[in-house]
Amino acid sequence: MIPYPFTYHRPNSLAEAEALLARLPDAKLLAGGHSLIPAMKLRLASPAALIDISRIADLSFIRRAGDTISIGAAVRHFEVADSEMVHKAIAALASLVEEIGDPAVRHMGTVGGSVANNDPAADYPAAVLALGATIRTNQRSISADDFFTGMFSTALEDTEILTAVDFPIPKRAGYVKFANPASRYAMVGVFVAETAGGVRVAITGAAPCVFRSSEMETALAQSFAPDAVASIAIRPEGMNSDIHGSAEYRAHLVTVLAKRAVAVALRSSGGPHG
Ligand SMILES: Cc1cc2nc3c(=O)[nH]c(=O)nc-3n(C[C@H](O)[C@H](O)[C@H](O)COP(=O)(O)OP(=O)(O)OC[C@H]3O[C@@H](n4cnc5c(N)ncnc54)[C@H](O)[C@@H]3O)c2cc1C
Repeated sequence: MIPYPFTYHRPNSLAEAEALLARLPDAKLLAGGHSLIPAMKLRLASPAALIDISRIADLSFIRRAGDTISIGAAVRHFEVADSEMVHKAIAALASLVEEIGDPAVRHMGTVGGSVANNDPAADYPAAVLALGATIRTNQRSISADDFFTGMFSTALEDTEILTAVDFPIPKRAGYVKFANPASRYAMVGVFVAETAGGVRVAITGAAPCVFRSSEMETALAQSFAPDAVASIAIRPEGMNSDIHGSAEYRAHLVTVLAKRAVAVALRSSGGPHG
């Protein structure tokens, strides 16, 4: 492989990172490097500069304000999995994070990197969308419904830095995924949440981008029980199809996992509402 030159920068503050991003042409933010470095090795990405934001203290926090858990962009997956606050408030989020990859992945991967990358098989986007989270950047706040725009694509501008994700604490929530046995990425993952704004169901892994099922949401709003979604069939058109599973298989999994996610939500006791 022919090496190519790039510069590496490690700012200590968000302001420094912003200035570098504005000044350096063709720069990319580096969080844990778990997606970006392999992409660079394969030459799918070849930035001229890397801005390593992994040690910026302002991006590294988990805190609760009222009925919201706010997680800084540089927080690594294991920190979320280890957080008693997250376990108590949003148990479904804690268990989602516990099942990401393996310990090495959880010790390098970050919330910001996962959400900004929007891999079709990533787990976090399902939680962000189902909980109706707000994505905070150095420039604005973006609702989850407006954030995920397509495969590996989000509403973030090139000069924007994701700083935190605010997760509203749901009344109850559950996440179940059928993991690829090699990577642990979701073949399909379904996150069901009953929030102050109603029931939300988000599906990852099945299609090129995380999406909501309005049919399941309507059914669960009437009766929050596994049987409510049992007969809702998801159409396979447009679903992912690869060596791991056909579109039909993934569509079938959505219904199966949605039922299980509702059952998990019913057993959960997280959230301020009991
Ligand atoms: C073997 C393996 C198994 C995995 N299994 C799973 C799994 O089961 N489930 C799952 O969900 N994920 C899984 N992952 C993904 C992993 O957990 C990381 O979340 C993901 O790779 C992103 O990595 P990162 O945080 O290091 O970000 P990076 O690789 O550093 O960055 C990813 C992208 O996001 C951009 N970016 C990073 N931070 C920001 C920011 N704050 N603002 C704006 N843009 C930003 C970068 O410029 C880059 O384009 C796996 C990864 C590997 C390598």
